[in-house]
Amino acid sequence: MKLEELSSRIRECRRCGLWKSRTQAVPGEGPEKARVMLIGEAPGREEDLQGRPFVGRAGRFLTQQLSRLGYSRENFFITNVVKCRPPGNRKPRSEEIKACHKWLEEQIRLVKPKLIILLGATAAEAFGLNLKERGKFIKKEGRVIFVTYHPAGAMRNKKLKGIFIQDLKKGLSKIF
Ligand code: SF4
Repeated sequence: MKLEELSSRIRECRRCGLWKSRTQAVPGEGPEKARVMLIGEAPGREEDLQGRPFVGRAGRFLTQQLSRLGYSRENFFITNVVKCRPPGNRKPRSEEIKACHKWLEEQIRLVKPKLIILLGATAAEAFGLNLKERGKFIKKEGRVIFVTYHPAGAMRNKKLKGIFIQDLKKGLSKIF
């Protein structure tokens, strides 16, 4: 199966209850053979309306920080642990994350990224990790995973912002 076909299947998915309140699913976007995959928590309002990941305020902040470090967001495959917006932007429930994880596993299998960057606690938890492991290269099940803060948290807190930028620099310099 190709990435495009997988995205079409995700758009039709009703594996968990989140399909009922979505405008549309947000499968993710980026090159089929992206070297780095960025994974956040869930689509927000803007993402739900546009059908694209990380296009709201936090997404623009992420794109801006990547660009300041010399990277274009088009180089990355960007997605979330759940592909449909939880009502009112609540945290996705564990059963929703579990239901959607099959899609994420398929995406990882197709893209084969050299590095997976997990943005925030929910993304980390979906891979059995947590923010205490932030800033380290973690080898797990044949993958290299790196945990950092979610851009929404980093853009609101000056201290976290500095750490977040340093983390991106560290993570990406290993690959590019
Ligand atoms: S969140 Fe994931 S599992 Fe749930 S309906 Fe959307 S695509 Fe399907």
